[in-house]
Amino acid sequence: PIAMLASIGAGAKRGLLIKGGKYLESLSRVDVLLIDKTGTLTLGKPHITDIMTLNGTSEDEVLLLAASVERYSEHPLAEAVREAARGRRLTLGEPERFEAIPGLGVRAQLNNSLVTVGNRRMVPEASSFVETEYLEAQGKTLLFIACNGKHIGVLAAADTVRPEVPAALAALRSMGIKEMELLTGDNERTAGFLSATLGVRHRANLLPEDKVAVVKDYQARGCTVVMVGDGVNDAPALAQADVGIAMGVAGTDIAIEAAHIALMRDDWTLVPDVFRIARRTLRVVKMNIAFTAVYNVVGLSLAALGFLPPIFAAAAQSLPDIGILANSSRLLRQK
Ligand code: ADP
Ligand code: MG
Repeated sequence: PIAMLASIGAGAKRGLLIKGGKYLESLSRVDVLLIDKTGTLTLGKPHITDIMTLNGTSEDEVLLLAASVERYSEHPLAEAVREAARGRRLTLGEPERFEAIPGLGVRAQLNNSLVTVGNRRMVPEASSFVETEYLEAQGKTLLFIACNGKHIGVLAAADTVRPEVPAALAALRSMGIKEMELLTGDNERTAGFLSATLGVRHRANLLPEDKVAVVKDYQARGCTVVMVGDGVNDAPALAQADVGIAMGVAGTDIAIEAAHIALMRDDWTLVPDVFRIARRTLRVVKMNIAFTAVYNVVGLSLAALGFLPPIFAAAAQSLPDIGILANSSRLLRQK
């Protein structure tokens, strides 16, 4: 109705693309907030902070192989690896038969070697390697590198939490959203560090389809679920959620497509804002409905008792619309 349109307009003015009134309705009764990590909670611009080498390989060799495999990957971690290689003026090789496995890593043929870069599950050769666990405990993401079945090195990447996140989560908590969970493809220790810092729960080692399963699981228990993500490895979960909110959409079409609400600015303060807009809208909608009902009952009673001549009754029919318009237009001015 008109109240929804007014709020969608008010949202658009401040950088919120709301695809329909029904999402405002769902938002007003959300009980679970699921949050993607990389690119959503964090800036999604990681930097390589540590390089560890094994089996007599040099740092430059490890970095060169990793960056060459990542040469055409669009993952933020790939850009971090390429940036580190540029910093050392390394000339990248040309990967052949490049393969990206969502949520795990990448592999390709370089000259005649098969090189794999990714997390522990992607690089089983590194599964028992524990010397870098202290880096994960600092919230860093580890990239293991294997060449022809041999573990040759580890890169650690650090990303920055978006500065406005803690305040935004506090605002959401004060609105009564108690269940907040961080969903990530990253490992348990890295996720645990972040979730402890922010005071939310977490689930790690999730593939894109696992994120969808978490959403469905909550929905099966009768919860209304909001998912905030950036569209990288979480587009299916955004689409599955009752309300998918896309963050960092300046770059990714897939996020705008999959989500129900898109933030046109990378700014977490817009998340509590859209919840506020939704609640205000639903209050106005309820007022409008109550007003119409009362008006009709009074009108019908008067007419039935003969106090309202038919010609006046007909005219009176259109009066509530004016009241509803006036009441709803207040939503256009919300801040
Ligand atoms: P998140 O759920 O935090 O947004 P992703 O699902 O995109 O993270 O990735 C999960 C994990 O998979 C990363 O932490 C990394 O270990 C590994 N990974 C994914 N893509 C790549 C890549 N191109 N290069 C190296 N590692 C990758
Ligand atoms: Mg992500």
